[in-house]
Amino acid sequence: MDDVIERLKARLGPAGWTQDPELLAPKLVEWRERWSGHTPLMVVPRDTKEVAEVVAMCAQSGVAITPQGGNTGLVGGQIPQGEILLSTGRLNRVREVDPVDDTMVVEAGVTLAAAHEAALAAGRRFPLSLASEGSATVGGLVSTNAGGTAVLRYGPMRSLVLGLEAVLPDGRIWHGLKRLRKDNTGYDLKQLLIGGEGTLGVVTAATLELFAPFASRAVAIAGVASPAAALELLTLAKERTGEIEAFELMCALGLRLVLAHLPGSRDPLSTPTPWYVLVELAGGRPGGAEADMESLLETAFEKELILDAAVAQSEAQSAAFWALREGQSAAQKQEGPAWKHDVSVPVSRVPEFLETADLRLADAFPGVRIDAFGHVGDGNIHFDVLAPERGDAAAHAERRNEGARLVHDLVASLGGSISAEHGLGVMKTAEARRYKDATEVAALEAIRRALDPLRIMNPRVLF
Ligand SMILES: Cc1cc2nc3c(=O)[nH]c(=O)nc-3n(C[C@H](O)[C@H](O)[C@H](O)COP(=O)(O)OP(=O)(O)OC[C@H]3O[C@@H](n4cnc5c(N)ncnc54)[C@H](O)[C@@H]3O)c2cc1C
Repeated sequence: MDDVIERLKARLGPAGWTQDPELLAPKLVEWRERWSGHTPLMVVPRDTKEVAEVVAMCAQSGVAITPQGGNTGLVGGQIPQGEILLSTGRLNRVREVDPVDDTMVVEAGVTLAAAHEAALAAGRRFPLSLASEGSATVGGLVSTNAGGTAVLRYGPMRSLVLGLEAVLPDGRIWHGLKRLRKDNTGYDLKQLLIGGEGTLGVVTAATLELFAPFASRAVAIAGVASPAAALELLTLAKERTGEIEAFELMCALGLRLVLAHLPGSRDPLSTPTPWYVLVELAGGRPGGAEADMESLLETAFEKELILDAAVAQSEAQSAAFWALREGQSAAQKQEGPAWKHDVSVPVSRVPEFLETADLRLADAFPGVRIDAFGHVGDGNIHFDVLAPERGDAAAHAERRNEGARLVHDLVASLGGSISAEHGLGVMKTAEARRYKDATEVAALEAIRRALDPLRIMNPRVLF
């Protein structure tokens, strides 16, 4: 290891590495402080060629690497435990935006917010949207197959990446930055790297698909009595308009926590309701989204699907509504440790999941508080379990695995997934073996062995 470290330092020069504890500290702890780690060296290559040289040097000596982008991952896969930490911080160029092909080529270390800006500057839009967009990078989004609030309309990263450039575990560069919607030439290597969580190589750049900007947009928050009512509203919205940009669910506790902990937030509805839905409609017809929203809410009131609703009257108000949804995790963090479950079930089974999980948890862990929110239009619920009010937070944290087993067994029985969008990382890899088909796991292990026989890429993550 010492020999490789000295060679890496010599090759990259002073701007390309650090061992300074102060600079390393924020890279070695996860956002919610659930995982912390250590590394003998962080390398910060400036281009794809340097990434390839780093990986080749490590591969020749069997030294393991953990890639890291914005360190916003929620399953611990980016935190090294003694591996070389490879930061994509200097792979930060937008190489090209092409409004005719509707594509952009961006390097792995470009943040999602910067990618949004670059697309907008060229009169286009990259639709993936999530609360960590100021820090999450394109490399991390690709490697975790990130989802977010616009999956209902555009799909996750798997649907939005047209091409990739990556360094494979032996140090070879794969030049796959295609910009094709159609390329039916056998196995698709990029789809293995998407969601690969850094185990099959280092993503260095991606071709992303762009869309035309909207001519109209309407955002509303509606109060509903139950998740079943929320789904009926979703069905109605689908029938009325093909332009649902987002359809998000929040429970009353989640909204209360945001109002309590995030300064400046206020409830847009006059009376509390058990559940809330944030709906965004957006389209290319001037005034179309606003008119569709009005008609949708009118019909929903008539059918008694919603108890109350408020439509944002300005961009600032739309942003304030979205802040209530996007502030859910940050507000909840102030309440102490929660058992986090990022799960999905078929959309139609969301109400059954929420009701049954609620009952089973109340029975097994009396007094726990459930904070459920998320992308209900995709069947993806962030089902978080907080300690009882004034309960012992440390004792609650210790029972996390018992709670997860109960929730995951229920999810599996409903035909769902124990990781809807955050990936497996180090948090859920063992748990995933319990639920995934054994034949599938064996095939995935064989693919990994073929590409990384020394298992140097993110060795503690995935199968
Ligand atoms: C407040 C908040 C809200 C969030 N909301 C959502 C959401 O709605 N939907 C969602 O899907 N996720 C969400 N996330 C999770 C997170 O933002 C995503 O997983 C994001 O894709 C991670 O990007 P990153 O650059 O921070 O990656 P990191 O955290 O640095 O890394 C994540 C994983 O990718 C690997 N990796 C990183 N870069 C590369 C690369 N260039 N090549 C190979 N492997 C690499 C790492 O080794 C690690 O396994 C949220 C996180 C936070 C903190």
